[in-house]
Amino acid sequence: MPLPSPEKIQLAQKYLLFVKICRECGARNSIKAEKCRKCKRKNLRLKRREIIKK
Ligand SMILES: [Zn+2]
Repeated sequence: MPLPSPEKIQLAQKYLLFVKICRECGARNSIKAEKCRKCKRKNLRLKRREIIKK
């Protein structure tokens, strides 16, 4: 299995780390989401973790 390029890993980390969590039901939504895809409320918080560097 070939190793993914560092660029792809970085991109994947971005998508994994930058998500919005619903305060009402805890569902994960995309970073672009305006409202929760589960309960349709706009009570979203941004989940932002630091990207781990070597
Ligand atoms: Zn929700």
